Amino acid sequence: MNDRHPAPGNRRREQNPAYGLLQPIFFGYTVNAPLTTAQGIERDTGLWDRGMALLEREFSLLPMERRDELAALLAEVGRLKEELLSLSDAAEGSTICAACGGACCRVGRYHPTPLDLLAFHAAKEIPVVPDFASGVCPFLGPAGCGIAPSKRPFTCVIFICDLIEERLSGDEVTRLHQVEEELRLLREQTATRFGRLLTRSLLLEMERSDRVGDRFLH
Ligand code: SF4
Repeated sequence: MNDRHPAPGNRRREQNPAYGLLQPIFFGYTVNAPLTTAQGIERDTGLWDRGMALLEREFSLLPMERRDELAALLAEVGRLKEELLSLSDAAEGSTICAACGGACCRVGRYHPTPLDLLAFHAAKEIPVVPDFASGVCPFLGPAGCGIAPSKRPFTCVIFICDLIEERLSGDEVTRLHQVEEELRLLREQTATRFGRLLTRSLLLEMERSDRVGDRFLH
């Protein structure tokens, strides 16, 4: 146990500060250690590709009106994520993260949710491609996170480490809490309206052996 405490965004324990890492706690699941064996890489790549293909197909099959509605909600989610990250950047978040080397990103492969990833389809952009052979987060590159702030996983954007948080003013922390609450609410509303699985980990959902017939979008 270290001296870290739950970040403002950790009220529902999306991260486990006991590790000092951005380690999500997925209730009812066992989170496997990163697999960097050839077999593990192949397995994760296959699960990811199948999940992304399912998402693309389900999104394309939505009636136009619902697709537009979802795209509008995702655009607003993206705007809130950008605002959260810009608050962290104002406290030199990017510099601190670069110097740290992404210690909080070790289990990042489980962070992207269908909701995070649908933002690429809604914006008609090519989705991010993971590198499961890296041994760390498959989205972490030499210049930091390879996912644009507006599409970065929710779990990642709400985590503010102590080094960053202690540089924020009282007003900035208050604003951070407000934006996080707005983001949380909007995600929940979107999941209620479009599918309960949207806020789960894509990779963990694809690992489920009982997910036959389960759809991400309804
Ligand atoms: S997606 Fe980006 S911010 Fe999130 S764990 Fe991976 S590298 Fe870190």
